Amino acid sequence: MQLKTLEMIGFKSFSDKTVVAFQPGITAVVGPNGCGKSNISDAIRWVLGEQSAKHLRGDKMEDVIFNGSESRKPLGMAEVTLRLSNVKGTFVSSEFGHYQEIEITRRLYRSGESEYLINRIPCRLKDIRDLMMDAGVGARIHAIIEQDKVDQILSTKPQDRRFLFEEVAGVMKYKARRQEALSKLESTNQNL
Ligand code: ATP
Repeated sequence: MQLKTLEMIGFKSFSDKTVVAFQPGITAVVGPNGCGKSNISDAIRWVLGEQSAKHLRGDKMEDVIFNGSESRKPLGMAEVTLRLSNVKGTFVSSEFGHYQEIEITRRLYRSGESEYLINRIPCRLKDIRDLMMDAGVGARIHAIIEQDKVDQILSTKPQDRRFLFEEVAGVMKYKARRQEALSKLESTNQNL
């Protein structure tokens, strides 16, 4: 799987439609403090289904919607689309496996209403999670290594490192399904 483009409209500081194109190799984003570099990785995290406003450096989820500036009015909606190439059949086990490219979109309105789409078809958050888990990528993608994260990974507990390896190895999908099945079993037991 490769990231192709990231499109942001009304997400955090990106009030106008902004497209970041990822070429093969390393993409570097350079700019002064506070210019919005981390908002780009926040957008990737968000579109992959992050549910914690705190992990997106906000207090509430609505904080991801462009909040206005001196010269611009706040917007009513944030939208992020991540285009991925399906190289080497990364998504082969999913119903989207035959597509060359896969687009994941997330929208959030100020009313609180949100939408998720795969290839412009409305879907559930779970569908996006399942799709990404096939590719070994979760919403808490530790592949996003922010400032200070390197130290944290090196010094963190073995269990946390194991989580990182398992996510990359694609085991997380089965662990998540096991957890889902156990929850269902628990509620069935309650009903009994
Ligand atoms: P640093 O170098 O400190 O990591 P950075 O370049 O990564 O900074 P970010 O932290 O990504 O910058 O961006 C912060 C900027 O985004 C701030 O100027 C902040 O005002 C702006 N911002 C964040 N959320 C919103 C929002 N909802 N609406 C408008 N602007 C926002």
